[in-house]
Amino acid sequence: MLTDRLFARSARPSGARADSAPSRWHHGPWWSNSYLLTPLLSILVFLVVMSLILWSLNRREQQQQEDTLFRNVAWAQQQIRLSMTGAQEQLQGVARDLAAGHEEERSFQTSTADIMQAHPEIVYLNWYTSGKTLHWPDMAPPLAGQRFARLTDAQMDMAVTAAFGEARSTRRQVYSPLIYDDLGNGYLTLQTPVYRDREFLGSIAAVFSIEGILKHDIPPELSAKYKISLLDADNRELSTTSTRPRLPRDIFYDLPLDPPGQGLTVRVYAFPQITNFTNNTLVWLVAGLSCFVLWSLWSLWKHTRQRFEAQQALYAEAFFRRAMENSVLIGMRVLDMHGRITHVNPAFCRMTGWDESDLVGKTPPFPYWPRDSYPEMQRQIDMTLRGKAPSSGFELRVRRKDGSIFHARLYVSPLIDSSGRQTGWMSSMTDITEPKRAREELAAAHERFTTVLESLDAAVSVLAADEAELLFANRYYRHLFGIRPDGHLELAGGGGFDSTQASSDSIDMVDTYAGLPAAALTEGTADAQEVYVQSIQKWFEVRRQYIQWVDGHLAQMQIATDITTRKQAQELARQQEEKLQFTSRLMTMGEMASSLAHELNQPLAAINNYCSGTVALVKAGRTTPDTLLPVLEKTAQQAVRAGMIIKRIREFVKRSEPKRQAARVSDIVADAVGLAEIETRKRRIRIVTEIRSRLPVIYVDPVLIEQVLVNLLKNAAEAMHGARPNAVDPAIRIVVRLDAGFVCISVIDQGPGVDEAAIERLFEPFFSTKSDGMGMGLNICRSIIESHRGRLWVVNNIDADGKVTGATFHVSLPIGEPADHNQGGSEAQRPQTVTGEL
Ligand code: ADP
Repeated sequence: MLTDRLFARSARPSGARADSAPSRWHHGPWWSNSYLLTPLLSILVFLVVMSLILWSLNRREQQQQEDTLFRNVAWAQQQIRLSMTGAQEQLQGVARDLAAGHEEERSFQTSTADIMQAHPEIVYLNWYTSGKTLHWPDMAPPLAGQRFARLTDAQMDMAVTAAFGEARSTRRQVYSPLIYDDLGNGYLTLQTPVYRDREFLGSIAAVFSIEGILKHDIPPELSAKYKISLLDADNRELSTTSTRPRLPRDIFYDLPLDPPGQGLTVRVYAFPQITNFTNNTLVWLVAGLSCFVLWSLWSLWKHTRQRFEAQQALYAEAFFRRAMENSVLIGMRVLDMHGRITHVNPAFCRMTGWDESDLVGKTPPFPYWPRDSYPEMQRQIDMTLRGKAPSSGFELRVRRKDGSIFHARLYVSPLIDSSGRQTGWMSSMTDITEPKRAREELAAAHERFTTVLESLDAAVSVLAADEAELLFANRYYRHLFGIRPDGHLELAGGGGFDSTQASSDSIDMVDTYAGLPAAALTEGTADAQEVYVQSIQKWFEVRRQYIQWVDGHLAQMQIATDITTRKQAQELARQQEEKLQFTSRLMTMGEMASSLAHELNQPLAAINNYCSGTVALVKAGRTTPDTLLPVLEKTAQQAVRAGMIIKRIREFVKRSEPKRQAARVSDIVADAVGLAEIETRKRRIRIVTEIRSRLPVIYVDPVLIEQVLVNLLKNAAEAMHGARPNAVDPAIRIVVRLDAGFVCISVIDQGPGVDEAAIERLFEPFFSTKSDGMGMGLNICRSIIESHRGRLWVVNNIDADGKVTGATFHVSLPIGEPADHNQGGSEAQRPQTVTGEL
């Protein structure tokens, strides 16, 4: 019921805000707690009252019992006392008779027998003289032997004389202290003194048995109901009416017994009460009823508590739901089964701008429907009411109160009440204008990005690092390699990768192919690499980078730009350079042609002379082997000399593929000097070679280095000849030394030096100060040296006076391993062999 009421409240469509409810509900705990406490208090009060009643009943009963006990003790005491005093008086009467002089044995015997008859507790009675002897020793003691005295003779003697002296001195009846027999039974002696005037005639001793007192003096109706005991001064039980052992919980009452005194006490124990059936039934009934009341109160309290807890949980749930509904940003709308709006939440009102009162109770068309989409909205409502709303929801346009439109998505679910019956449809609406715009923008950005990537003239590919799987490839890549990862691996430096063999250690393969250590994984970018892809015969400049792919995995991105054209141009330039170098060598030879002719002419003329001389000798018939041999040997030497010159020229101009090899610097220098000397000798200029260090083997192309040196020597000779043609003993010094890992070759002339202003221009192409100069020599020299990773530069020689005495051209070449040279040079990567003859 309560649940229904609560849900009815939370689902109530209009006006009623939950704001007022909490104030009332929050008072809940106060009265709810007292509501809880009341049964608990009733239980407590009931328990206290019942306990009090039972306690007072019990108390009263006990009181009554004690009173009865006290009365009975007093009665028992009274009975004993009466009997004792009776015996006392009778004995006193006998004593008076004796004092009066009626000393007659027979009458004494008769009266004492009467007394003993009346008092069976007296076990012995006789008259003793003042000398403590029997007055009538021959008289049989009255009723002796019939009584239950178990005293021995000695004990009897003691008993009859006990308190004798006291009775004599006080002249009154005196009870003796207790005397015990062997079984512990107590006895008392009553001494009744007999005085005639002042003469003491002895005393009548009457021995009382304590057991007898109890047995004969207590009325049977008393001893039947109670256990009655007599106790001595030490609280020792002397005799009792019942042998039933005493229970600790038995109540008892003591009263002192006087006479006979002597510390004797009568004690009465109450036997446990014989239960009263009616009383007990009543008690049990009350107890049972109390238990039942307690149980019902307890269950009531428990029930109340459970109800209270359930109520609290429901309140909390209701508040929570209300708070949630108010705080969510999702608009909620409830339709009944006929399509009427029964509830809208604040978020729905905020979204649409319409008030709750504008919407609740309305049927389609709703105020927030844009006018131009009535048919579409109607269709959606119809689908909703038929239960055919798609699970992905509807996308719709919504008109705000101010007329503006926004896009929304609406999800519909059936509204089921607590009895499981469908009462309507719950719709949740979210404003998707912003997400939609963002999505469209994202799509546009993605499209732009894709367009750019797709239209790039570079192959962009991303390969998963842990498996050879192509994650992305742009159009250019796909055009070149398809959608297989082989292209990526080829570009990474591998090639021919069979994708079927892709394994988990492909990353190692990628790294191996890429020539990158695993540490490169953490580095941002690798330098661009030039890679030749054999399968498509193209050169690419490849840049690669390790990136985190969208799924978080490591991937390698590669951008390969086609540089085949550039490479071809470079190759062409290189070939032209080579041709130029070759042409330059030919030109040098051409320029030296006359000198060479002259140089060759000398051995040829000598050979001619020797041969002519030999012919003359042979004709004269003066030939002996001794005369012919030296001549022929000299002829042969001249022929060798001519051959050497021709070999050198041939080697110098021989066109071959530039090839680096281990070469001795001294050999290269000697060859260059040998060739240049042909020219310088003509100008009478000496070439002085100074080799200052032990030279290592260097890895160079010896022909090219020789070409450089020949060029420098020729230039030096020309400069010296042009400046001082008549100088005395002109010489060019060529100094070779080692300098910090470089072989340094310096060509030092005595010419005019170089113009400081134009010092760098000398190495430019076509710079020449000579009328017939081409101006290409130094340019080619520098490019040769630089292709060997060396340097070529010039300085002027200055003497002590600051005068320029010539120029020095320095060539420095690195000493290195062949691998170093092969890597750096353009030849190392050249794919095609340049062949052909001039
Ligand atoms: P060419 O010898 O055809 O002029 P080069 O490139 O060999 O071409 O030389 C360029 C210029 O450098 C020469 O014209 C000359 O002016 C200058 N030059 C070269 N060597 C020397 C030198 N040893 N002393 C002075 N000037 C020189």
